[in-house]
Amino acid sequence: MECDKCGESAVMHAAYSGLHLCEEHFCRSVDSRVRKRIREDALLSEDATPEDPETWLIGLSGGKDSVVLTHVLDDVFARDPRVELVALTIHEGIEGYRDASLDACLELTDDLEIDHEVVSYADEYGLEMDDVAEDDPLNMAPCAYCGVFRRDALSQYAEEYGADKLLTGHNLDDEAQTAMMNLLSGDIQQVAKHFDASLGSFEEREIDDDPFVPRAKPLRDLPEKEVALYAHLRDLPTHMAECPHASEAYRGEIQEHLHALEDDHPGTRHSIMSGYEELAKLAAEAYRGSDDEAQGSCERCGAPTNNDVCRKCELVEAVGGEQAETVE
Ligand code: SF4
Repeated sequence: MECDKCGESAVMHAAYSGLHLCEEHFCRSVDSRVRKRIREDALLSEDATPEDPETWLIGLSGGKDSVVLTHVLDDVFARDPRVELVALTIHEGIEGYRDASLDACLELTDDLEIDHEVVSYADEYGLEMDDVAEDDPLNMAPCAYCGVFRRDALSQYAEEYGADKLLTGHNLDDEAQTAMMNLLSGDIQQVAKHFDASLGSFEEREIDDDPFVPRAKPLRDLPEKEVALYAHLRDLPTHMAECPHASEAYRGEIQEHLHALEDDHPGTRHSIMSGYEELAKLAAEAYRGSDDEAQGSCERCGAPTNNDVCRKCELVEAVGGEQAETVE
């Protein structure tokens, strides 16, 4: 098959667009979709200047998504004095898994000359995910603990570092799965939170009163397979092994359904996200200022919550970790 742009040999066919692209035109199209998303989300504030740049903290796991995100951001902003990029890797304490992916992170950040920080669950919460998965005191899937700890560690570090934005490598498949899981759960408040947390543009989201560093997902228009192909074609250092505790069974089920739908009806993931984003925006507007918004703060760590103690502090206590300091 030939590239629709130049006639060279094609390396991919996107059924949802009908396009066949060669290596060069495929990589250019990935770069331009990420740039377009950054523009449309108004990611770079108009107030950012060379004298007063924004700091963007990138969640870098060493997997293909965060590696591609870091590579493209460096490509776009390495010579832009209005932005400083910093990468952060969370070490969960999973033997034989995170150490290997940390190598990929170090290789990439050395190569790009980006500052790289590492935060561990051991230092933050006095626990390791290997022990949590083995003990499982609440009889939950390991990812149910780990996801809460990771979100908290990223947010806390972003705050302490003084970052202006927190960027993660979620791709189109991740976002379409989350959208379907939120819709199928019937939890519209969760849909509203998804919008303000990371979906809409910075001009539409309510971030001024948000106690967390605002998040963004510049890869959210790119299908997972295209992110993997880009990492391969650009020969980026990635760690492809799966976590031994991976356990999100429901997400896997949704993923299978979405793959089947996409095969039969190309473009399904894009159309889900375009409709969902509109719905999420309406839901976010309806919930702002309502009684359902988190009004209080955790008595142990100060995180916003409607309960006395936030979910992260509950879980740290349940697994026998070290509690965060009490807020005065
Ligand atoms: Fe944590 Fe689950 Fe990811 Fe493993 S797969 S790192 S347990 S969230």
